[in-house]
Parts: sequence; C-alpha cells; structure tokens
Amino acid sequence: MSTQTEPTLVTQIDFARAGQITPQMKEVAEREHRDPEYIRERVADGRIAIPANIVHIKKGMRAFGVGEGLSTKVNVNLGISGDKADAAEEWKKVKIAEDFGADAIMDLSNSGKTRQFRQQLIDETPLMVGTVPMYDAIGYMEKPLVKLTKDDLFEVVRAHAEDGVDFMTIHCGINKSVTKTFKETGRLMNIVSRGGSLLFGWMEVTGNENPFYEYFDELLEICHEYDVTISLGDSCRPGCLYDSNDATETAEMIELGKLCKRAWAAGVQVMVEGPGHMALDEIAANMKLQKRLCHNAPFYVLGPLVTDIGVGYDHITAAIGGAISASSGADFLCYVTPAEHLCLPNAQDVLDGLMATKIAAHAADIAKKVPHARDMDDKMGQARRKLDWDAMWKCALDPVTGKKRYEESPAATEGTCTMCGKMCAVRTVNKVFEGTTIDLGMED
Ligand code: SF4
Repeated sequence: MSTQTEPTLVTQIDFARAGQITPQMKEVAEREHRDPEYIRERVADGRIAIPANIVHIKKGMRAFGVGEGLSTKVNVNLGISGDKADAAEEWKKVKIAEDFGADAIMDLSNSGKTRQFRQQLIDETPLMVGTVPMYDAIGYMEKPLVKLTKDDLFEVVRAHAEDGVDFMTIHCGINKSVTKTFKETGRLMNIVSRGGSLLFGWMEVTGNENPFYEYFDELLEICHEYDVTISLGDSCRPGCLYDSNDATETAEMIELGKLCKRAWAAGVQVMVEGPGHMALDEIAANMKLQKRLCHNAPFYVLGPLVTDIGVGYDHITAAIGGAISASSGADFLCYVTPAEHLCLPNAQDVLDGLMATKIAAHAADIAKKVPHARDMDDKMGQARRKLDWDAMWKCALDPVTGKKRYEESPAATEGTCTMCGKMCAVRTVNKVFEGTTIDLGMED
C-alpha cells in the first residue's frame, strides 16, 4: 500500500491536469459555445487561463476564459490616484464597466484606502479583478521605494491574493540581463511601464536582482494557494513606434517565456502582457513571436497604439491596433481611453475607451471565427432591413447612446432617420419589393 499522499488540487490548472472539469470550466464552455473538454485540455497546457481566485469564487464571481479559441476579453483600468482621489468617481467607472460589457476591472489604486476599495470591489463585482501590487507597495508599506525589501513586496502580493484578486500584473521578467540589454542598446522612450520603471529604479539603486525574478518560486507558492493568475508584466513594452520590436522588448519576452513554463510546472496559471506602441505592419509578427516564445500562453495587450500622435484620440489609435492584434492572436485587450498620456480618465472617457476596445475585440472575434461571434451582426442586418429600431437597440454594443442620438433628431418620415429622410434607401427598396408606391416626387 502506497504511503504517498495525493497532491492537493487548488488551481484550475491543477484540476485540468488531473482530468477534472471544474464548474468554472463548464461556465466558460457554456458562454463560449465550446465543449467543456475543449476548455479543460487548454487550461491543462496553459493555452487558456481562467483567472478566478478561490476567494472571489466564493463571493459569486463569473468565470471568464482567456485564450485560444475564445472570445477576446476586455479590461477597464480604474482606481484611486494620489493626484485625484475621488472614490465616488471610481465607483461610477465600475458601474460603466459592468453595464457596458467589460470582462475585467484592473484596480490600479495607488493612494489612500486602497485595501478598502479593493475588498469592496471584489465583494461587489462579478467581473475578473486584476491589480498591480507594485503600484500599491509604497502606500501599503508606508516606505519610500528604495527602502522596500523583498519581504515587503511579497507581503503586498499576499495581501492582494488574500483579498481575492484574480490576476496580478507582476513584472518578473525585467532581470539584470534584460536591463543590461536595455542600457547597452538604448531606446528613445526608455521604460514606460509604471511598475517596470519602479522595479528598474529599485534594482539600480539597491544593486539587487529583481526580487520577483530571483524569488519567482516563492511568488508561485502564494499564487498557487489562492489560484491567482500571474499576468507577466512587460516592463519594456515600447512607449513609441521607434522602440517597438527592439532588442530590449524581445529580451524581456524571452525571459517571460521561460517563466511561463516554471509557473505552469508549479500549477499556476499565466498570461503574458504585451505592447504598447507599434506600427500597424509589425503587429501580426509581434503576436506570433509572443505566442512562439511564450509557448501559446494567453496574450494580454495594451493597444497597441498604431501612431504616437493621436493625442486626445488614443482610444481610436489603440482600437485600430487592438483589432489587428486580437485578430492575429492576442486574447485580452486592455482598454485605452481618450485621456491616455494626458490625465486620469473621467467616467465619459471610460465609456468611450471601453466601447472602442469592445468594437476592436468584437471585430477581431468575427475575423477569428469565434463561435457565434457574428450572430448579433446578422440580427442587426435583419433589423435594419426592416427599419425595426427597437430590434436594432437590442443588437447594439451600446444601445443607450444609439437610442439617445436617434431620438434627439426625430425623422419626419416614419421609420427612417434624419440622415436621408424620405430618400431612405432601405425604405425605397422595401417599397419596391412590397409593390407599394414610391412617394418620391420633385417636392422631395
Ligand atoms: S434614412 Fe438613411 S441612414 Fe437612416 S435608416 Fe434610412 S438609409 Fe439608413
């Protein structure tokens, strides 16, 4: 008789490898029109992540799958900022994220009562919740950056895990080898990732290796205990077109690929983060290279912004890049708002950024042939052909804005809108096929 004890199954990847389909895998399968076994297989080998902290599951969160063959997920960033601390405004943004179809909320709070805000968010939202513990570390430990120790940083990660955070951006890949490449080869915009720049500063001042890299196994133990998905942060993502696909970005991506394998071996789910700013013609190759170097781990992308000069309209420059990146393999898009590079977004910016990103994700899903992705578009076509406006609102990604604009400008001719009025092409052709009078005379 064997005296060996069976390993405890905690994470989605643990269960998947043991051949077990969890309720979360079933939920993802149902929503994505996939067989539960399709999901289990891909969770087992890391191609799909289901970021769902065991604490958040107990509070009733919905399960979302991120990865191969699934619909592209969309994240909204918000959180209390030191320069503009207004919790009520941040709760408005949470409501917009939930009402307008975000899949995840990243709480990037970095000042004041971050833990209270985070815990309440996890209590109340059914969406995936992500954080960047490095943003919170200085406030949480009440110490300046360079006085923070490895134990301090890990204590913050543990606090976020205990609170129920589903995925954490941790910049594990920026090690001494990557910073050497960065310093030797140079860049126009240096390091533009907030967490990455803090770690780079910490490493340069203390002379130590990145603790999240050096003690990666310890980090994995915390993540495993709560089933926190590690979102491997790309500290060296390009901050301008000039830096994209350079030696520094690629050197870090190679490190991230190695860390993916170590995380999976420890039963921890992983996503990998990506650019940034990138010219349109470079995006598809970057997505393919990431999938290759990171062993098909789900790719979580910010933009990429396809030009550096769209200031004030960066939700559009990012959505163009987002559609290309998602149709070329990215699995998860972080929204970008019109306030990007300018200021903390307000509630309207959040809505505009979310809708631009949702459109990019949806357009990519149609191109990727995600099951049933086009159903609503085909229903919209039918509703438009019948000039059935109520049916159109039911198909729209943002029915509120569409209906409001339509009603602000009442049409004189029934069924049409003020764009063409009586010369409505749909109405004219419907009348031809119905055999009814086409009432268009000289007076029209
Ligand atoms: S009036 Fe013009 S824009 Fe409006 S529904 Fe008819 S064809 Fe479309």
